[in-house]
Amino acid sequence: MKTEELLEIAQQFGSPVYAYNAETIASQYERLTAAFSKVKQLKIHFAVKALSNIAVLKLLKKLGSGLDTVSIQEVKLGLEAGINPSDIIFTPNGVSLAEIETAAALGVQINIDNLSILEQFGAKYPKTPVCIRINPHVMAGGHTNISVGHIDSKFGISIHQLPHIQRIVNNTGMHINGIHMHTGSDILDIEVFLHAAEILFETAEHFPDLEFLDFGSGFKVPYHEGDIETDVEELGEKLGARFNQFCEDYGRDLTLAFEPGKYLVSESGRLIVQVNVVKQTTSTVFAQVDSGFNHLLRPMLYGSQHGIINISNPKGKERFYSVVGYICETDTFANNRRIPEIREGDYLSFQNAGAYCFAMASNYNSRYRPAEVLWYNEKAHLIRKRETFEDLTRNQLNIDI
Ligand SMILES: *Cc1c(COP(=O)(O)O)cnc(C)c1O
Repeated sequence: MKTEELLEIAQQFGSPVYAYNAETIASQYERLTAAFSKVKQLKIHFAVKALSNIAVLKLLKKLGSGLDTVSIQEVKLGLEAGINPSDIIFTPNGVSLAEIETAAALGVQINIDNLSILEQFGAKYPKTPVCIRINPHVMAGGHTNISVGHIDSKFGISIHQLPHIQRIVNNTGMHINGIHMHTGSDILDIEVFLHAAEILFETAEHFPDLEFLDFGSGFKVPYHEGDIETDVEELGEKLGARFNQFCEDYGRDLTLAFEPGKYLVSESGRLIVQVNVVKQTTSTVFAQVDSGFNHLLRPMLYGSQHGIINISNPKGKERFYSVVGYICETDTFANNRRIPEIREGDYLSFQNAGAYCFAMASNYNSRYRPAEVLWYNEKAHLIRKRETFEDLTRNQLNIDI
């Protein structure tokens, strides 16, 4: 999407608005699959929690992707988008047995991440194939909120509990068809990933009826200049070769599965906002926009840096700004950021706003969640209407007090 096209989207659909470029999603999908072209059976499951708009799920289906889901509602969104249940993997954490049973009844692949549910589910449904999520205890990420492989993490079944897993499997006679790990977002180091993969391979040797190995995600995309990025070609080369070797030793071709969220959609997205006020204080210049952490939480939650472009004045003289929102709470998007001169009324575009952005939006301060637009075949398609006042009051019961 060019700057002029972003501006047109803001003018046509109003502000704030999320816009996703379908071409970027397709090229990321193709880059990932090309990197693993030496693997005979590769399956990508898009992590729905990153961006759950049905139109985006349909686009991913068209590309050949399945879905990774973490709630029964995400499963239902996937089915609504026309995805085959067999192309959906259900990887929840800490949900009830009842929710897992509901998902299993819909025909999706179940992935269990604790011994208690494994034993209960296995005893009740020994014939339903189940994948096991293990925790290899490898720290892949740099940020404490997104490294889920460490020893006290709530995710997965500890690799040290393998004997206990085996006892449950033997006692219940259940069918384990996949082994899974997800060591958290942001793989900084391919060697760390390969190390975790070795643990997965070792685990897999203990299960004779496997159909797939799921290596989760953690693919890093650059958020700002000089930011690190996963070299998927190098990963594909190294993990692909190792995986093929494993299949040979195992005696059968398995499917290599991944479940990227951020990698597929982050760079495709923009959040376009409008500047309400330019405010000088004794120490800085604030650009206050018609948005806040109700629409884009990542900078405040994770300290993420989203690039900011002044699409109304892209060639303007650069100045330093603190870009903040209109929420009555500290909602700083960026501090001391060099941006072409910002005037009141200008539209700004936040980069990398495809993953975990709209998905985390709320109605805080009783604001509407933004519209969403998919840029597809050189045209902007509205894929979610901006909310209205009726949306805010829909479930409230205005009783007489
Ligand atoms: C969130 C999540 C993903 C996707 O992670 P990204 O960093 O967005 O690629 C994949 N698998 C599971 C189990 C997850 O919870």
